[in-house]
Amino acid sequence: HFGQVGRVPGDPILGLLDAYRADPNPAKLDLGVGVYKDAEGITPIPQAVKLAEQRLIATELTKSYIGGHGDPLFGEQLLRLVLGEHSPALSEGRAGCTQTPGGTGALRLAGDFIARCLPGRSLWLSDPTWPIHETLFAAARLPVRHYPYVGADNRLDVAGLLATLVEIPPGDVVLLHACCHNPTGFDLSHDDWRQVLEVVRARELLPLFDFAYQGFGDGLEEDAWAVRLFVEALPEVLITSSCSKNFGLYRERTGALIAITADASSLQDVRSQLAALARNLWSTPPSHGAAVVATILADEQLRQLWQQEVAAKRQRIAGLRNGLLEALQPYGLAERFAHIGAQRGMFSYTGLTAAQVRRLRSEDAVYLVESGRANVAGLDAERLDDLARAIARVVSD
Ligand code: PMP
Repeated sequence: HFGQVGRVPGDPILGLLDAYRADPNPAKLDLGVGVYKDAEGITPIPQAVKLAEQRLIATELTKSYIGGHGDPLFGEQLLRLVLGEHSPALSEGRAGCTQTPGGTGALRLAGDFIARCLPGRSLWLSDPTWPIHETLFAAARLPVRHYPYVGADNRLDVAGLLATLVEIPPGDVVLLHACCHNPTGFDLSHDDWRQVLEVVRARELLPLFDFAYQGFGDGLEEDAWAVRLFVEALPEVLITSSCSKNFGLYRERTGALIAITADASSLQDVRSQLAALARNLWSTPPSHGAAVVATILADEQLRQLWQQEVAAKRQRIAGLRNGLLEALQPYGLAERFAHIGAQRGMFSYTGLTAAQVRRLRSEDAVYLVESGRANVAGLDAERLDDLARAIARVVSD
């Protein structure tokens, strides 16, 4: 039995967290783990979530199973949040929402759906991408390929991206980060997106949007721009939506797979498959987080409070990006690191090398991933000058 079981290495980012926790230096800084943190270094429960939870405790009547597609009110509200109130796909009955355990569950369901219902298609990921994309789609037995995204020069490679897309076999699936690219923070411009759309349309590719950070880039509506552009232009689109970051619901495992189909009849075919596949994965989705989201989005006051809370997180991140650049200015490094101000979302590919990252860890107790990815939300606004001095030191030798 288990004697034949080998050991696999743990998640490198969680290993980094262990090292951080064990570090006695009081000035230590965790820029590794991908959760939002406030000025106190805490990942808070939004007030809107607390209020919705109180309401649910008082009114919830049963813990019986919810259906395979989840809470219908959640689905209705999330479709409007992602696609926009006036989306033609919604009014035409071409958009469906299947509630999943987090964005990760939605990605796995999408992977199983493609493997089962669209056999022979490869899935194309950005290079680099969120590492779980690589392992999760391999686990779903999809052939995984890559398109260039950010090169060794730490710049967005739009030309390389487009040159690869035009070579992709018709019918293949392309995963696109809707906003706040993880791990790099580099997002496409509106003009870049229009060019990608033209290739996707011409090559008859199927876009799969990973939308895990709605509200963390430029705004809840603004961040949905690319998704909505594609949904309005194409007959078929898949979108995985996560409520982990923007609702602070990480451990409640709240997300959805949204399918846009050519017509209402095709939607029912696709949804029948999604429900059947989900049955083998998690049977029915967890209820609590989705009930919280539905409660917030359906209530004008809670919704406004939540929108303010998302805006505060976004503004804190933007302030930290600009603050770090200002702190780097006296060292003549503001231009070299200007990309940190242009990137969006929680993450930044800083451009620091693995050797520089290791020095920051051992000499300054600053913890970031060896790729040079930093969680900007982990920065301490009061100590940006210390960090800038440390960066200046490690990049100068
Ligand atoms: N996609 C990306 C790009 C992410 O960064 C994350 C969260 N780290 C997810 C999907 C999934 O998030 P969750 O399963 O926690 O909702």
